[in-house]
Amino acid sequence: MTRERRMERTTPVWQAPDETIELMGPVSGNDLNGWGETEVRQPSLVMWANPAHLAHGAVQRRMTEQFLDHPELRSVLRTDDRHSPVPVAPDRVDATPDQWMADVREFAMGEAGHRVELVGVSQPRPEWFFEGRSSDLPFVIMLGLAMDHGELATAPEHTSAIEVHRQYNRGTAAARSLADFIRGRGYEAHGHGGPGAGPMQMVPAAIEAGFGELGKHGSIINRELGSSFRLAAVLTDAPLQATPRDIFGADDFCVGCRICTDACPPDAIAPDRRLVRGVTKWAVDFDRCLPYFAESYGCGICIAVCPWSKPGEAPRLADNMTRKRTRTAGVGHRSS
Ligand code: SF4
Ligand code: SF4
Repeated sequence: MTRERRMERTTPVWQAPDETIELMGPVSGNDLNGWGETEVRQPSLVMWANPAHLAHGAVQRRMTEQFLDHPELRSVLRTDDRHSPVPVAPDRVDATPDQWMADVREFAMGEAGHRVELVGVSQPRPEWFFEGRSSDLPFVIMLGLAMDHGELATAPEHTSAIEVHRQYNRGTAAARSLADFIRGRGYEAHGHGGPGAGPMQMVPAAIEAGFGELGKHGSIINRELGSSFRLAAVLTDAPLQATPRDIFGADDFCVGCRICTDACPPDAIAPDRRLVRGVTKWAVDFDRCLPYFAESYGCGICIAVCPWSKPGEAPRLADNMTRKRTRTAGVGHRSS
């Protein structure tokens, strides 16, 4: 399959320099991620944590050094991570789940909440938490932060990485503000944004909360923003309600599209789904992606070239795919 895939490419496959291959070390990230495993399990922490505890920590360290060496990147890299959450108020605000949802949306999408573009809620599953991590809090509020596609499309230049980090910073600030807002109303809440790994994987939580479908490039495709957005999250016991999944045909679209597959310099995006920790899904080849990612300020080519990410295109494509799905299978607009 790999040989056939490479023969179809019109551009040569990027080869990692020996120095980067050496930094990668002997451990396969795909093995750590559970490729081929039939059982559902918690994911291992593979990147964006304390590099001393990571199999590929040397690669992460070098990326951090490169960012810090670059004056423009250094200015957006969040190095001071101190934040003091407000105490949980002794008296709880008494409101219905509908009212809580409206209040959370209003806060998060308003100025105090950093004007996030997407808000949804899901009920965390144990297998979303990294090994050794868990939470008794019954809800996770997912936030989506739109990226400037013009900046994103400069990938793999450093200007794309600047925009990615700007939105990670906005997401972290938004999640912390929202958590403080909820704590001030008498409930537990813990906010987290990227790029550092928090307690849980955010992509499955965001898909469950209705942000969209998983694309072949391993990121979410949203019906408004395509893949041009970043995520942040707030775990809480506030009396919220889960928002429904949104299935509009992005997955079907990916089956017949190979734009990201062809554009990925190291050929890390497979044309077929894979079995990963008991679930068959689109999955990027970590061992191929990471060396290029590390050499190119976090890359991002795949989400930039995705046709859904082009400003204004996602709603049109979503409508087309929904009409097609309705015609061929009689399925509805949204599914829970
Ligand atoms: S570029 Fe095409 S195949 Fe890749 S994620 Fe986007 S729609 Fe799917
Ligand atoms: S981030 Fe870059 S290297 Fe990684 S899968 Fe996307 S295009 Fe390929």
